[in-house]
Amino acid sequence: LFDSKIILGKNGVPVAENFRLEQSTIADMIQVGQVRVRTLYLSVDPYMRCRMNEDTGSDYLLPWQLSEVADGGGVGVVEESKHDNLAKGDFVTSFSWPWQTVAILDGSLLQKLVPQLVNGRLSYFLGAAGITGLTALLGIKEKGHVTVGANQTMVVSGAAGACGSLAGQIGRLEGCSRVVGIAGTDEKCSILVQEMGFDAAINYKKGNVAEQLRDLCPSGVDVYFDNVGGEISDTVISQMNQNSHIILCGQISQYNKDVPYPPPLPPDIEKIQKERNITRERFLVLNYMDKQEASILQLCQWIQEGKLKQFSTLTYFIISLEAAFQSMMSGGNIGKQIVSVSK
Ligand code: NAP
Repeated sequence: LFDSKIILGKNGVPVAENFRLEQSTIADMIQVGQVRVRTLYLSVDPYMRCRMNEDTGSDYLLPWQLSEVADGGGVGVVEESKHDNLAKGDFVTSFSWPWQTVAILDGSLLQKLVPQLVNGRLSYFLGAAGITGLTALLGIKEKGHVTVGANQTMVVSGAAGACGSLAGQIGRLEGCSRVVGIAGTDEKCSILVQEMGFDAAINYKKGNVAEQLRDLCPSGVDVYFDNVGGEISDTVISQMNQNSHIILCGQISQYNKDVPYPPPLPPDIEKIQKERNITRERFLVLNYMDKQEASILQLCQWIQEGKLKQFSTLTYFIISLEAAFQSMMSGGNIGKQIVSVSK
């Protein structure tokens, strides 16, 4: 058994030295109510950077403790069960799956998965059919004010990432007439347009973003799905229409800095936001878990109908976790960054 432990960093870019991989043993016997699981897939996510700070900045996120096994979203298979509702061979998931190859977990904290819902692609339960898909769908539904036939233009930042790539596709499915993405490489931009149905995409590392955005959004921006914050968002907000809406999903450009969440807008941008009556309410997917079941079914239906595509960037074995996390934080992923633990 291997597990990954973490040594805290605070203000700066996560590095390999923040993590430690150790071999250890787990108990031979499991107790009533417990299951022994083999980990299949682990998710690495931007919020984990906040868990590396003593104060995560959010009451719903606990800091990872020094030398504690790190955890996050995971999918695995039950190998032994002393829980009434789980049997050997069941596939299960949890938001707080330990970064271990094998673990003994409390069965009541696991959700049983139905692989047929995602055509057998279990890793989708960490992406399009999991919290990532829920974030994109519920963010748009709860904060986007998207209306069929209203001819709305949506802009998505972090567009080639896990949430962003789904948000653009869902924005279209929900009725936006034009969807424009912003991402960090030409390759990402061409995938957005050629494979994910975006109308256009801007590489924010090249050329003048404001000018390109003006050309590509001639009627202005009605809905902004914001994954990144900072300068990119300031540029987008400057081109938003009267009574338009920001889906404040995340601010990854600020996560390696010691700043409050959500970071305040610069005064000139805040002035624009207020004058144009642009909504910018904090969105947190965990506040809408009463809608989880129906929303997952909707996402799975779109997946089965071929209307919603998940892109994934996979690394292999638990030893690749730290590198996968660092890579995702610096733009190495297209779609959902996932670690395939068992092969
Ligand atoms: P992701 O987008 O798959 O991965 C992160 C991406 O962020 C990278 O690929 C990189 O792409 C981009 N990035 C990194 N640093 C950047 C910078 N300084 N400026 C601009 N872009 C940068 O991650 P995800 O899991 O889908 O998460 C996306 C956002 O959603 C995050 O902000 C996350 O915190 C948020 N989120 C919110 C909720 C919620 O409930 N509100 C739930 C889940 C996730 P480029 O190559 O384009 O730079």
